[in-house]
Amino acid sequence: MFIIYCPYCCEYREEEEFHPKGQAHIERPKDPEACSDEEWGDYLFFRDNPRGVHHEMWVHAAGCRKFFNVTRHTVSYKILETYKMGEKPSVTAESVAATTATPESVQKEGVRA
Ligand SMILES: [Zn+2]
Repeated sequence: MFIIYCPYCCEYREEEEFHPKGQAHIERPKDPEACSDEEWGDYLFFRDNPRGVHHEMWVHAAGCRKFFNVTRHTVSYKILETYKMGEKPSVTAESVAATTATPESVQKEGVRA
């Protein structure tokens, strides 16, 4: 079970109060009419599926009902940070790769309970 920190409630709460809502930081095309079908299809349907650090949007459905972002490692499921909508992540794939942590060492830490 995840214990997730809501950046709006400023509290750690149980996973059951939250719902994942997919990849974060997907920008809607500024002029949809100018998009090709391929560009619009990419915006609507195609998402990243990295092995490693991933930024996701979650909602605190049984709490404040606000959307926020989560940086999560897809191998270990470890949540590295949560942050409010409109903010930039402080943990990125590049910053994790710069540390000495290997995927195996991250995997051993497991899911935070
Ligand atoms: Zn909340």
